Amino acid sequence: MSIEKLIKVKADLHLHTTASDGKLTPEELVRKAAAASLDMIAITDHDTVEAIAPALREIGTHPGLRLIPGVEVSTDVPHGEVHVLGYFLDHNDRELVSNLAKLKSSRVVRAERMVEKLAGLGLKVDWGRVREIAGEGSIGRPHIAEALYEKGLVTSIREAFDKYISRDGPAYVERDKMTPEEAVELLVRSRGLPVLAHPGYLPDLESLLIRLQRVGLVGLEAYYDGYDRRLMGQLASLASKYNLVATGGSDFHGFQGDEETQLGGVPIPPECIHKLLVIARQSSLVGS
Ligand SMILES: [Zn+2]
Ligand SMILES: [Zn+2]
Repeated sequence: MSIEKLIKVKADLHLHTTASDGKLTPEELVRKAAAASLDMIAITDHDTVEAIAPALREIGTHPGLRLIPGVEVSTDVPHGEVHVLGYFLDHNDRELVSNLAKLKSSRVVRAERMVEKLAGLGLKVDWGRVREIAGEGSIGRPHIAEALYEKGLVTSIREAFDKYISRDGPAYVERDKMTPEEAVELLVRSRGLPVLAHPGYLPDLESLLIRLQRVGLVGLEAYYDGYDRRLMGQLASLASKYNLVATGGSDFHGFQGDEETQLGGVPIPPECIHKLLVIARQSSLVGS
């Protein structure tokens, strides 16, 4: 694709579907992107590539719209979570699919084991209710704490943590963890281009970038829903300092109302998309 053509490219490289916590099916999302006259989208569901195959089928009926197969992997750092996006990956890669499935099911299994441990302590909460409270989000300790509180088994959410499910609590269960480095390596092995998601407020960002670049990080998400011009500018200069691609996206989930940035609502400079495509082409991930 020539740069002249790219001047007009309208892209959104961070989108969710019902395969994770989005509201639109992969097909609906593709149709919405086509209706919004986007030229390029990336579907990046949390820890799953299930939406890619149906989206690729649907996109066949919308010439002019191009789909980058992607994912958003959740990883753990000492005081929180870091998300790593992967672009142009092979969504049929067995290792990728099985690692993502393990990550997802480990969260459910861990919550279930905590509920069992609580029952062993005489605190019976309904597993179905815990799942209901969690909704479509990834299930965890806050949902168990809420179920305990609802049943009057604790007088506050805080008490649920302090007495039972904090790290040293009698009902605590450790969970499988993936570090950002491991996620980058996994994406590289499945022929994906790893990009650090919404890094705007991450502590020690530069040292994280250096560590991740060593194992194959190619970019960071500088243009993002909710970031002001100043922050986007800072992130873009950080990207150029480390010779990383500055990517961007809306992180669209399809929620109702005006609070969410709309599909394609975050403008990405065309040269950034061009740079990403050049790297993908150099890695033979896409044809010319
Ligand atoms: Zn994220
Ligand atoms: Zn996201």
